[in-house]
Amino acid sequence: MNNHSCPGIPEQCEHSQALISQVLEGIPDASIVEAARQELSRCAPCVQQIDFQVRFKIAMAQRCTEQAPPSLQLRITEALGRVDLNVDVTDL
Ligand SMILES: [Zn+2]
Repeated sequence: MNNHSCPGIPEQCEHSQALISQVLEGIPDASIVEAARQELSRCAPCVQQIDFQVRFKIAMAQRCTEQAPPSLQLRITEALGRVDLNVDVTDL
């Protein structure tokens, strides 16, 4: 048994905070996540917090690598389209 006494609030649990920052270093690794979840298995709120943080990190990483360039292109295309429209309207 370890000395981990969890207040039940992830923000106030130094043990889980340390583990979460460890897990979120770089790209989340399944074995590191699993080890952290087992170490915090006695406090459900902290396990949920780890799951949430990992999911959030993966979602952000996927957005950055896959979705950002096309959506940026779309935004630029839209902006250019608006500029063209505005020019046409003022010319008339
Ligand atoms: Zn805890």
